[in-house]
Amino acid sequence: MCGIVGYVGKNQAAPILLDGLSKLEYRGYDSAGIAIRDGEKEAEVVKAKGKLINLYEKTNNGNDVKGHCGIGHTRWATHGEPSEINAHPHVSDDMNVVAVHNGIIENYQELKDKLIRKGYELYSETDTEILTKLVDYYYKKYKVGPIDAIAKTMVRVRGTYALAVMFKDYPDEIYVARKDSPLILGVADSDCFLASDVPAILKYTRNVYYIDNLEMARMHDGKIDIYNLDGDIVPKDTTEITWDAEAAEKGGYEHFMMKEIHEQPKIIADTFNSVYKDGKINLSEVGLTDEEMEKIKKIEIVACGSAYHVGMVAQYVIEDLCRVPVRVELASEFRYRKPLLTDEDFVIAISQSGETEDTKKAVVEAKELGANTLAIVNVVGSSIAREADNVFYTLAGPEISVATTKAYSAQLIAIYAIAVELGRVKGLIDDAMYKHYIEEIQALPDKIEKIIENKERIQWIANKFAYSKDVFFIGRGLDYAICLEGSLKMKEISYIHSEAYAAGELKHGPIALIDDGILVISCLTQEGLYEKTTSNMTEVKARGAVLLAVTTYGHYNIEDNVNYVTYIPKADEHFMASLAVVPLQLMGYYLSVARGIDVDKPKNLAKSVTVE
Ligand code: GLU
Repeated sequence: MCGIVGYVGKNQAAPILLDGLSKLEYRGYDSAGIAIRDGEKEAEVVKAKGKLINLYEKTNNGNDVKGHCGIGHTRWATHGEPSEINAHPHVSDDMNVVAVHNGIIENYQELKDKLIRKGYELYSETDTEILTKLVDYYYKKYKVGPIDAIAKTMVRVRGTYALAVMFKDYPDEIYVARKDSPLILGVADSDCFLASDVPAILKYTRNVYYIDNLEMARMHDGKIDIYNLDGDIVPKDTTEITWDAEAAEKGGYEHFMMKEIHEQPKIIADTFNSVYKDGKINLSEVGLTDEEMEKIKKIEIVACGSAYHVGMVAQYVIEDLCRVPVRVELASEFRYRKPLLTDEDFVIAISQSGETEDTKKAVVEAKELGANTLAIVNVVGSSIAREADNVFYTLAGPEISVATTKAYSAQLIAIYAIAVELGRVKGLIDDAMYKHYIEEIQALPDKIEKIIENKERIQWIANKFAYSKDVFFIGRGLDYAICLEGSLKMKEISYIHSEAYAAGELKHGPIALIDDGILVISCLTQEGLYEKTTSNMTEVKARGAVLLAVTTYGHYNIEDNVNYVTYIPKADEHFMASLAVVPLQLMGYYLSVARGIDVDKPKNLAKSVTVE
C-alpha cells in the first residue's frame, strides 16, 4: 500500500521520482508529493491530492523543480483524510527535516502530546508529521548526526515504517529506515535509488540492497551504507534483479491485467522448469529433500485473497495425491486463533509480493511454535521470503495489475510440483503416474494459449451481463476452489456483487437469492462430480437463473441445459484449476472494461496489503 521513492545522483531528481511513483500507482493511493533539494538550498515540496497526473501538472512534468536529490510518495491515508495538507512529504517547522513514510505509527498520540509540550506546532492530522518532527527533535536535542537521530526515533516509536529523510545540513544525502514495510535500495554508478517495490527502479538499476527490519541506511555519491540500531555499519552485498525492465511496461496491451493473462503460459513453463531437472522434479533448492518430505505428516497453508484460493486448490490436490491432511487458513485468522502447531508441522505461506502483513506475521508465529515453514512468493528478497525457513520462488516477473492472474497461476504450479513430488516420496505415485503428471503439467501452457485465443467469446458473453447486480459461481470439489477465485476476480475489478458456493450448499440457503435473470456460472471440470453439479444447475435454472457453464470439450450435451458454454481443453483433473480459471479471469476483465472501470486500479484496493 502506498509507495515511496528517492533518488540522489547526477541527474535531475523530479522526473525520476515521478516516473518511479507512476510505477507504484498500482499499489493504491489517494494523493502524492515530492520534495527536491538543489544543493544547499532548502527543500522544495510539491503535493497534490488525487491522481499522480495532478502532481505531474503542478510540476510541469517535474521540470519546474530543480535539484539532484529528492524523495517522493504516493499516500494511502491511514491517519487523516486524503488532502493536500496530509499528503507527504512532511517537514519539521524550520525545514530541517523532510520525510516520506509508508506505514503506521501506533503510539503517535502519545508522541504528539510530547512534541506539543516541547513547543512543536502541527499542521496535519498524520502520524508521519509526528515521526518527522520526532526525528528533528532528537537531532537537535542530542546534536547527533542523522543516523543517531533516526535510531533514537526508531527506539521511541511503535508501528511500521519505510522512512526516507533529508536533513538540511546534509545536502545530496538521503537517509532511510525500515520496520515491517517494504523498501529496497538500488545503486548504479554515481546514483542511488530507493523504492517500495522493484518496478519503480528497474529502468535505472538492477543492483539492489535488501534492507532488513530495524536497519537504516545513508545514501550518497552512488554509495549506500547500511547501519543497525547501534549505529554500526552492517556489511551487505547487492543482489541482482533478473526481471526484464519491459516486464514492468504494458507492452502494447491496453491494461496490465490483459498483458499478465497472456503471460501465463510462459510463466507457468518458467516456474515449472525452475524445479524440473533431468526428467524429475527437484525441490532440493527449495529445501524439500526426500528426507524432509518423508517427515511431513500434516500441512497447514496460510495465505490471503487469491493466494488463499491457491491454498484451497492445494488442499484438494495434495490430499488426493499424497494422502496428507491439509488445512488452509486465512492468515489474518490463523494469527489470532492460538494455532496448534508443533515442530512436527509443515507450514506453507503463499504471497505474491512476499510483503502481505498478515501472512508474514503468520510465518513468524508458525516459526515460534517450531514448525518448518516454506514460502511460495514472487518477489526475491521480500520480507516473507526472508522470514520463512525455505522459499519456492514463482517466476511470474513483476505483477502490476491489482487483480492477480499470472502470480496465482504460478503459485498453482508450485503447489503441483510439491504435490507430485510429495506423492512420489510417500510411495503413492509410481513411475508411470509420475511421468504422466509431469507431462500433464508441461502441457498446460499450450492449453492456456488455446483458451486465450478464444477470448472474444468470453467478451461477447461478458458484454451481455455488464449490468448484472449479482452473480453466483457454483462448483464441487476443485471446481469450488476455482469458483472462489472466479468470484473474487469479478467483484474486485467489475464491482459486481458475486458469491461462490460449493454447488451442494446452494439449497442450504443461497438458493433463496436466485431470481429471474441472475447469472449463475458453473465450473464442471471433474468427471466424477459432473452429474451432481449439473443437477444443481438445473435447480437454479428452474428458479429463473441464466446459466453459463465452463467445462471441457466433449461435454456438448450440456448445451441442452444451459444458456452459454465456454469449453476448455482437458487435462489431468488435478491440474484443471490452471485452465478453468482463465475464462473466469477474462470474464472479470471484460466485465470491468464494459463497465468503464480502470481495470488495473480498482477502487479501494491495494496490490500488496502491508497493513493488518
Ligand atoms: N500513516 C501515514 C499517513 O496516513 C502513511 C500512510 C501510507 O503508508 O501511505 O499519512
